Amino acid sequence: MNDVRIDDLPVRDELRGKSPYGAPQLDVPVRLNTNENPYPLPEPLVERIAERVREAARNLNRYPDRDAVELRTKLAEYLTTTSGYEVGVADVWAANGSNEVIQQLLQTFGGPGRTAIGFEPSYSMHGLIARGTGTGWISGPRNDDFTIDVAAAEKAIAENQPDVVFVTTPNNPTGNAVPPETVLALYEAAQAAKPSMVVVDEAYIEFSHGDSLLPLLAGRPNLVISRTMSKAFGAAGLRLGYLAAHPAVVDAVQLVRLPYHLSAVTQATALAALEHTGTLLGYVEQLKAERDRLVSELRATGYEVVESDANFVQFGRFEDSHTAWQKILDQGVLVRDNGIPGWLRVSAGTPEENDAFLDAVRELKKEQST
Ligand SMILES: *Cc1c(COP(=O)(O)O)cnc(C)c1O
Repeated sequence: MNDVRIDDLPVRDELRGKSPYGAPQLDVPVRLNTNENPYPLPEPLVERIAERVREAARNLNRYPDRDAVELRTKLAEYLTTTSGYEVGVADVWAANGSNEVIQQLLQTFGGPGRTAIGFEPSYSMHGLIARGTGTGWISGPRNDDFTIDVAAAEKAIAENQPDVVFVTTPNNPTGNAVPPETVLALYEAAQAAKPSMVVVDEAYIEFSHGDSLLPLLAGRPNLVISRTMSKAFGAAGLRLGYLAAHPAVVDAVQLVRLPYHLSAVTQATALAALEHTGTLLGYVEQLKAERDRLVSELRATGYEVVESDANFVQFGRFEDSHTAWQKILDQGVLVRDNGIPGWLRVSAGTPEENDAFLDAVRELKKEQST
C-alpha cells in the first residue's frame, strides 16, 4: 500500500519535501565513498570485545551506567595522552556517534527561534541536525580554494548573530584543516556577537599533519571539541562519539540527553577498543601514508587536489562530476559525489583499493584528453 506518502502525513513544515541523508551503498568491489577505515578490527580486539560484551550481558537486566563514567575516564585519558592537554572525566561526554553529540548540543544551545551557522561546503549533517532540532540554519561562505575567508566569516557571524557556530577541521568533504588562528578569530567574533557556542568538529583529527585544538579549551567555556571513534578507530559500526568541553557544557547536555542513551553493550565495546588504541593508531599511520600517496599520484596524473589532513581526498576538476563519478564506478570503484560542481571525493582505502582507484582515474584522464 503505497498510497500514503510522507507529505500526506501531518509532518512538521520544515521536513516537507526533504530527503534523508545517505550516500548510495552500492555493491561494488572497491567502496571508497564514506570515509570509513578500510581495516577491519584486529582479531585480538575482536576477542576482547566478545569478552567485555559477555561480562556486560550478565547485567543486561539492569540499566547501564547512565553517566558512562568508566568510558569517559578512558576517553579523557586518550585525549590527554594524544594531545598533551590535560582532559578530565568531567570535561568529556559521550553519545551514539558524534552525530548524537551534535544533536544534543543543538537541542541544548539551538532549537526553535535560534540559529546555527556553518561554512560550506562542509559536513552536511550539521545543517540537517539543525533542521531536525528546529534550529535555523545559516550557510556561511568559503573561498574558492575551500579555505575559510576569516573576514567574510566574521561578518556573517556579526550580521546573523548565530547561537551555534560549526567549524569542521579537517573539513569534510574538502579535507583541508582550519588554522587555529582562524578558529580563535571565529570564537572571538561569536563571543562579541551574542555570545554563542563554537563547536569544532574534529572527526578526522587523528589523520591530520597538525595538532588537535583541544588546548584552546583552556579559558573558553563556550568552545566544544567533538570527536568520534567512527574514523580513526575503525569503528563506524560501534556508534560512539564524544566531546571535550568545560564541565558546565557537559552538565548542560544532561538536560536533553535521553536517560541510559549509551547501552551497556556500546560502553563495553568502546572500552575494549580503547584498550587497543596503539594498534588502531598504527593503522592510522598507514592510512596517512596512503592518503599522501593518493594526493601525489592524483597530482602526477594531472588532477587538481585539495591539500588533505583527513583520510580522504577531494579531487577535480571535472566539467561534469556526476559523469566522472559514473565512469569511475563503471570500473568498479565507488567514490563520493557531494554535489560540489567539478569535484569528487575519495576515501583512502587499503593499498590495493587505492591502486584500483588510481588505475580508474588514470584511465578517465586518458579518455578526457583524447
Ligand atoms: C564522519 C563524520 C562524523 C562522524 O559521525 P559519527 O556519528 O560519529 O559516525 C562527524 N563529523 C564529521 C565531519 C564526519 O565526517
